[in-house]
Amino acid sequence: MSKQIQPVRGMNDVLPAEIGAWQHLERVGRAVFEAYGYEEVRVPIVEHTQLFQRSIGEHTDIVEKEMYTFQDLGGDSLTLRPEATAGIARAAISNGLLRGARHKFWCLGPMFRHERPQKGRYRQFYQFDLEALGFAGPDVDIELIALSARLWRALGITRVRLMINSLGTVAARASYRERLQQYFRAHESELDADSRRRLDGNALRILDSKQPAMRALIEAAPLLTEHLDPESQAHFAGLRAGLDAVGVAYEVNPRLVRGLDYYSRTVFEWVTDALGAQDAVCSGGRYDGLITQLGGEATPAIGFAMGIERTVELMNQAGNAVPGVAPDIYIVASGERSEREAMRLAEQLRDALPGRGVLLNLGGGNFKTQFRRADRSGARLALILGDAELDRGVAAVKPLRRDDGQIECPLHELPARIAALL
Ligand code: ATP
Ligand code: MG
Repeated sequence: MSKQIQPVRGMNDVLPAEIGAWQHLERVGRAVFEAYGYEEVRVPIVEHTQLFQRSIGEHTDIVEKEMYTFQDLGGDSLTLRPEATAGIARAAISNGLLRGARHKFWCLGPMFRHERPQKGRYRQFYQFDLEALGFAGPDVDIELIALSARLWRALGITRVRLMINSLGTVAARASYRERLQQYFRAHESELDADSRRRLDGNALRILDSKQPAMRALIEAAPLLTEHLDPESQAHFAGLRAGLDAVGVAYEVNPRLVRGLDYYSRTVFEWVTDALGAQDAVCSGGRYDGLITQLGGEATPAIGFAMGIERTVELMNQAGNAVPGVAPDIYIVASGERSEREAMRLAEQLRDALPGRGVLLNLGGGNFKTQFRRADRSGARLALILGDAELDRGVAAVKPLRRDDGQIECPLHELPARIAALL
């Protein structure tokens, strides 16, 4: 036997046992997003590498070491998207959708990051992504966060907390970056290798370090919130007042800087204590400068990304079992003539009862085997065809989940009788 081919590390199969939870999340998500006026878009998984370098930022973990970048046969440098915001912003520019217009978009799909795989952290993972383009906020910031809170409620997820912060304008951030640089330079000997490299690139990134050894130094660093420009202060005050008004609880976390360079003003993150080290389930923020940075016209915008795997794990922990799909009818047939008639009847029932699950026994087998399959399928009714019944123009219908006995029914009455029984 030849050696089995292994899956790629950090990339998972989602099998039918789990798909019910994924589909439930997708259904609930879609309904909530549409109720707030977000429209679905589907953008490519592959983009020019430059898009991510120019948007996410050169000195971020993602761009420095996590991207799946390759040269295609034409010699272009392409990258499997590590996140969706850049692609959606690019799509809005490429399709000329901005020009003063406003849009609310959502999308669902896989993202790719070459991280160290562990529970809740994969190399291919899925995200819900929402983007509101052309809205200056803070009204839309409040609405978007309220939407995310509603999604948790609709999914029965309670073990999540909201953290918010403001990063100010790009200018305010630049002057803060200098202060931070001075501070960390004064403690250069205590920095780890990554942080030392970021000192010149982007000192803000150091605040995002997850190294325990860096924690005390980061705790004592000057705070951005103390250096906010007046407009950003007013924006942040508006956000807090709005969240209070709609009854969404939050904590202000002045250390929240987020891992991507393009954010300005509002940033937020939903965290949980239920997933161990992987505590972030949904994160986002405002990116008023991104679209001009990518060559589009100035467009204020805000968005968030929600991790599907982590959210599904929270749903499972909350124990809101999602019922699996079972067919309504399983058709059992024995004998060549009956099998052919069963095939015809199955199609007739699918015509007559749209939306009902009609499973036909495939591959033969004696009645005992077929009944075992019918039982395992979870079907509510078995429809039984034998050559003897066929000669009399009837079939038997047997409820599988109730004790009611089997009934006999003329073939032409089957659709109506079955509809009545279901
Ligand atoms: P983390 O701090 O866990 O690395 P992040 O800040 O890198 O998360 P974002 O880039 O903001 O995450 O992505 C939004 C969400 O996507 C996260 O809150 C998380 O739920 C999910 N996510 C991010 N990276 C991964 C991954 N490698 N595997 C699974 N889910 C992920
Ligand atoms: Mg990360």
